[in-house]
Amino acid sequence: NPSASSHFIKNIVIEDLKSGKVDEIVTRFPPEPNGYLHIGHSKSICLNFELADEFKGRTNLRFDDTNPSKEDTEFVEAIKEDVRWLGFEWDGLFFASDYFEEMYQRAILLIKKGKAYVDDLTAEEIRLTRGTLTQPGENSPHRERSVEENLELFDRMRKGEFKDGEKVLRAKIDMSSPNINLRDPVLYRISHTTHHNTGDQWCIYPMYDYAHPLGDAIEGVTHSICTLEFEDHRPLYDWVIQECEMEAQPKQYEFARLNLTNTVMSKRFLKQLVDEKIVDAWDDPRMPTISGLRRKGFTPEAIRNFARETGVARSYSIVDERMLEHFIREDLKLKVPRTMGVLRPLKVVITNYPEGQTEELEAEINPENPEMGSRQITFSREIYIERDDFMENPPNKYFRLFPGNEVRLKNAYFIKCNDFVKDADGNVVEIHCTYDPETKSGSGFTGRKVKGTIHWVDASNAVPAEFRLYEPLILDEQRGDSDNFLEHINPNSLEIVQGFVEPGLKDAQPQDKFQFFRHGYFNVDPKLTTAEKPVYNRVVSLKSSFEV
Ligand code: ATP
Ligand code: MG
Ligand code: MG
Repeated sequence: NPSASSHFIKNIVIEDLKSGKVDEIVTRFPPEPNGYLHIGHSKSICLNFELADEFKGRTNLRFDDTNPSKEDTEFVEAIKEDVRWLGFEWDGLFFASDYFEEMYQRAILLIKKGKAYVDDLTAEEIRLTRGTLTQPGENSPHRERSVEENLELFDRMRKGEFKDGEKVLRAKIDMSSPNINLRDPVLYRISHTTHHNTGDQWCIYPMYDYAHPLGDAIEGVTHSICTLEFEDHRPLYDWVIQECEMEAQPKQYEFARLNLTNTVMSKRFLKQLVDEKIVDAWDDPRMPTISGLRRKGFTPEAIRNFARETGVARSYSIVDERMLEHFIREDLKLKVPRTMGVLRPLKVVITNYPEGQTEELEAEINPENPEMGSRQITFSREIYIERDDFMENPPNKYFRLFPGNEVRLKNAYFIKCNDFVKDADGNVVEIHCTYDPETKSGSGFTGRKVKGTIHWVDASNAVPAEFRLYEPLILDEQRGDSDNFLEHINPNSLEIVQGFVEPGLKDAQPQDKFQFFRHGYFNVDPKLTTAEKPVYNRVVSLKSSFEV
């Protein structure tokens, strides 16, 4: 329930509606289509959409596509899919590039008002003459160009008469402002690059700090929510709205971006992981992308609850990734069937069970949710158990199988180990047990107790399956968003094992989710699963030391 949580931006909205400052709230989610969305974006998505929903306002999806060299329609499509999958539908779908003509006309207005000028300095020269926190900047030698000359040069920039970097349009504000963002920021640059939306129509492109407030104002956005890095840009945001004489008066509010331990989050770094083939793709289940989390087996509900619970704050924090895991466990707990899967199989022959015989056993689907009913599983002379549920020479307090010991097979019988077989290399390849028919699960047998319960599958009809087990991508908890994150890559972030699942799972479909007894929650991988063999991604193990 989104209304349950309160936060400072919501309080501002309530105040603005009450005072009549706005009649309706309009928010937007403004991704740049230069990569796939990540879990950090989901925070901004939930915040914008849920705020508008709660107060019966509107939310636009606006692509801030002002950097043609990095943007692509592939990303546009992926972003739309991810926003919808998270459970949100936008009111308007817009592109900043749809407003290029209007933005250009507003720039002409700025020039005419003496508030913008064409500069010939290079990007490097501009950077060097902008000064520092303790030193004012220096005026460009071109700062006093006449309105006529600026209009003519800007027109020629648009017509493509200059090469990339030869000229820029700058705002004329104050080169000694204590806020460096106000020291004549660049508004337009030349880039002879084909744009995913406007093709070759333009060779000058507006800068983010100019395009973003105009986009907000054109759409009638009332509350423009962004992350804290933009706090110092707010005076420029307001300057653009005012000097461009926009009718609507959007206001910018900042909150702290979401950071997570043991991962990287910036698209630049995520792209590097893909380009350097450290992961398979943007939707690799190890990635903190929405598409990676979806493939791993996360649900929209879990991500939304996580986004909500981590709150909206103004101070930097880094959230433990185990908190995200907590929310997916909570969401799947009552929803998904609990079954048995053997990840690293070891064959067990039940020597006193008749050859060729099979019996059906009834098992609950989810003991915590009896409404899910029961399922049938089969039992016969040969079964698979987990390799580490047997030890030839067990340590103290090992209660699973070893020669002479008896355990309970979940939903079946007690079995006792009598013997085992080794291959030429000395590996145990098969163990021999006897079962006790009196101990059948559900029979009410109380004759004796055993300390260990292990899971198993019937070898006669078990479905071969691949399991993919994931560990964090980044070893150092905090190292995620520093430039040397590549030095902290976990070399063992993926383990692939071949085992078996219950026959009842033979028709499992991509994205179906199960709990495998003792192993955790798994999702049928939509990309790697074939008709011959399902691939199960582990979403999360069953237990965590972490509590929220
Ligand atoms: P990145 O640095 O990962 O590329 P970005 O901010 O450049 O992120 P955009 O596509 O511009 O990515 O982001 C769209 C919206 O999502 C912005 O409003 C941005 O503030 C927000 N956003 C991005 N990352 C986070 C995060 N980690 N936590 C919360 N909001 C975020
Ligand atoms: Mg951005
Ligand atoms: Mg970015």
